[in-house]
Parts: sequence; structure tokens; C-alpha cells
Amino acid sequence: MDDTVGQLGEREVLRRILARIGRSAAEVGPGDDAAVLAVPGERIVATTDTLVHGPDFRLAWSSGYDVGWKAAAVNLADIAAMGARPTALLVALTMPDDTPVAFVEALADGLREACAALAPGCAVEGGDLAASDTLTVAVTALGVLDQDPVLRSGARAGDVVALAGDAGVAARGLQLLFDRFRDADGAPVAVTDDAALTDAERTALARQLRPHPPIAHGPLAAAAGATAMMDVSDGLVLDATRLATASGVTVSIDTAPFAGEPLALTGGEDHALLATFPAESALPDGFRRIGEARMAGAHPVLVDREPPVGRGGWDPYADWDAARG
Ligand SMILES: [Mg+2]
Repeated sequence: MDDTVGQLGEREVLRRILARIGRSAAEVGPGDDAAVLAVPGERIVATTDTLVHGPDFRLAWSSGYDVGWKAAAVNLADIAAMGARPTALLVALTMPDDTPVAFVEALADGLREACAALAPGCAVEGGDLAASDTLTVAVTALGVLDQDPVLRSGARAGDVVALAGDAGVAARGLQLLFDRFRDADGAPVAVTDDAALTDAERTALARQLRPHPPIAHGPLAAAAGATAMMDVSDGLVLDATRLATASGVTVSIDTAPFAGEPLALTGGEDHALLATFPAESALPDGFRRIGEARMAGAHPVLVDREPPVGRGGWDPYADWDAARG
């Protein structure tokens, strides 16, 4: 159980990963120089997102399974946010040679089970292993479209603004980790089973470590006529600002739907889907109305008809120094 990747070597580590990664859905899956995917239509949706030990996860808080799950989930969310169905992940894993093989195996389990739970039919179809002092998981996700993609730029004045998924839950989990699971020097401390946590706290912690973005709702929103869409990765106000700016509208958010969720406006990492729909259309199941798009005004986003306070979300460069504590 204590084997490291340095002791086993690339070939055996890869064999162990492939044994756990799940069944390929591709014409040619892992094992050759590249995968071959059969795709309907003429357009592929592609995105990449990297998790770096330090800014994006801490090994004291996240298991290998958690890291694999999250790396899959955040990429699947970006595919879904285009209105597309995820079909394949490519995973580049760089790690120190003293990384336990058990950690890597758990990471493969997390990748597989996140795909199975969030985007059935999507699987890891290839990747790369490399050595580095910093553990990094870089995932490329591919997807296909059943209709035109839904961009950030399509919102029009009068559209309903709606959200599918959690807002602020993962951020409460992160706050809990920073507040209660660090030592006197600020270093992360593992969350043990006997930690005195309420059910709500356990849920928030689980959502921070293993987010559940509503992947199937991306294509559903597209089919229902969504005019604009994106996933909320950095905070609702910050991401709504991006959508509003791209669309040339003002997004007016009502806080009433978020009563009892203190970090709903600023918390990222739930990867909820923020979408706009024509005013007359029925919202697809799973979406709830949170506001409306208006003619562009002095502020791209209003919260309860007022300009929001602060930056409203997470910036990986500006905020990481502060978070490092
Ligand atoms: Mg995104």
C-alpha cells in the first residue's frame, strides 16, 4: 500500500490507472498514441482546466478520490455550460516521485465515478504522466452539441435569469476548512471522522471537495431556448458580471431565492449553471428564476436593485496570496 510512483515507474503506474479508469466509450481508447472518438455533427466543444496543489486543493483536505472527482466535475461543467454533452476527458497528471500509488489509484477512481455520476457515457480516453515537484491535474474535456452552442453573449434585455444547482454551498465548505481545519501556523489539518460537524457542514464540506454541477441541465437549457449560459465557478456576482458584459445587458439578481445561504452571491466552485431564457419561455426543470436581464446601465450587475459591494468572487491571482494565510 505504501508504494510510490517513483518505486513502481511510469509503466506500472499507468497500468494501475487504466485498470480503474472505467470502460472507454471511444472508437480507440487509452493505449495507443491518441484516442479516436466518433462524434455526431461537425462541431466539437473543447475546454481545459487545471487543478494545482496549493491554490486549487490541499492534500491535507482532499483525498486522491476528491481531487479526481473535482478535476472531472469542473471540466464537465464547462462543457455543459455551452449546452453540450461531455463525451471524453484527457488527463495530464504531474506529480512528485514520492506520491503514493494508492493516491493515484484513488484519483483514477474519482475521475471514473464523477463521469459515471455526472455525465454518463463520458470517460477518460487518454492522458499523460509526468514528474514534477507540484501535483497538478490538467484535464481537457470534449463534448458534442445536439443544437447550437449557448454562449455568454446572447442575453437580451427582458430575458429571465435562472440558475440550476447550488450557490454558495461549496464556498461554505471552504470557509469551514479555513476556519476550523488549520493549525496555529495556518497549515491545513485533516478533517477526521470524529470532527464535530453538523449535517449541513458535512454537506458543504462534501460539495467543496466533490462538487455536483448539474451537467445534464446544460443540454436541457439549450433545448429549452437558453439565450446565454455559463457555469458559476468564481462566484455568482462575478460570473454574472462576465455574462452581462459579454451580452451588453445589466443582470439584475434578486436575493430572495438565496435566503439562508450566506455565500450565495460570492461563493464559487459549486459550478451551478447560470442561464438566461426568453421571458415567455417555461424554465426547464431544475432551473429557478433569480432575476432578469435589463438594458445595460451603469452597472453590469445589480443585487436587489443596488450595485454589488466588493469584487463578488474568486480571482486565482489576486486572492491566492490572501488565502495562503
Ligand atoms: Mg466556465
